[in-house]
Amino acid sequence: MRAAVIKQHGPPESISFEDRPVPAPEAMQVLVKIKACGLNHLDLWVRRGVPGHKFPLPLVPGSDITGIVDKAGVGVSRFKTGDRVIIDPALSCGYCASCQAGRNHLCARWGLLGETDDGGCQEYLAVHERQVSILPSQLTFEQGACIPINFVTAWQMLVGKAGIRPGETILIHGAGSGVSVACIQIAKMHGLQIFVTSSSEEKLQRTRLIGGHRFLNTSKESFREAVRNLTGKQGVDVVVDHVGEPTFMDSIRALKKGGRLVSCGATAGSELKIDWKHVFFKNLALLGSTYGTRGDFCEVLRHFESGKLTAVLDSTVKLADLARAHAALEERAVFGKTVALLP
Ligand SMILES: [Zn+2]
Repeated sequence: MRAAVIKQHGPPESISFEDRPVPAPEAMQVLVKIKACGLNHLDLWVRRGVPGHKFPLPLVPGSDITGIVDKAGVGVSRFKTGDRVIIDPALSCGYCASCQAGRNHLCARWGLLGETDDGGCQEYLAVHERQVSILPSQLTFEQGACIPINFVTAWQMLVGKAGIRPGETILIHGAGSGVSVACIQIAKMHGLQIFVTSSSEEKLQRTRLIGGHRFLNTSKESFREAVRNLTGKQGVDVVVDHVGEPTFMDSIRALKKGGRLVSCGATAGSELKIDWKHVFFKNLALLGSTYGTRGDFCEVLRHFESGKLTAVLDSTVKLADLARAHAALEERAVFGKTVALLP
């Protein structure tokens, strides 16, 4: 089978391709013939490398995987050959106190396909059956490959961590990023008043079709001032900030008393300078979040099944064009998801 492999960190061209044997499923594993694999910002970190962090190279990237069950290993009872499935990329032991309590994202042995283990930019993958769910019948493989990382991360941030409630106000940075698109949809289904920022007018225009109430172009105005004016100087209840250095302090200032800032990343830098008095004077909560639970995954899938959440697909590429897709993602020339199609 064909596999895209990162052997050493570097530019998009450093992605190489090789032929590998098709794995045999072990007991309780399902062998999936992969049909589609969604790309994430995470793929760029894995390819470029992160100072002070060691990725287990060589590594097959790709975390958002859909496909067809090719073979079920010994002991698998929930799936049969030919089932259309979607894979939850989170790996966990299944037995520790966190896993048993339904908080598998806190498992000491937590990992992620495409980051700590080989992911979906290859033709076949064998995974434990507890990571596998039936793909809702109305979703195509490429639509399914838009779901896991963005929507599970967004669900855990907004519902699990920030505890959003109807009627609250929320500021979501970075219109156009996959996780922001997911946050807007989840905030909309919970009945929040939604403010969205972007430095791109085009991305704000496209965001209007997804949801949101106020659209703040940060190349023309200060989002902090705009929020202040739009909320009668009160500020918002919740800010989602996965940008980091350029926005973080103004995000804190944009919160009302008792507000919550939640973050799943810092794409523009994580060395933050913070004036702590805003946090204690205003009773703020700063909430870090990585991915989500198996329960979040199942809940998100249910909302796709009922049509409350929808996939926002930018484009599809062949596996052979993965380097080009990485370059486009790096230049932020995408809105929503880029999905690699497997033969
Ligand atoms: Zn565990």
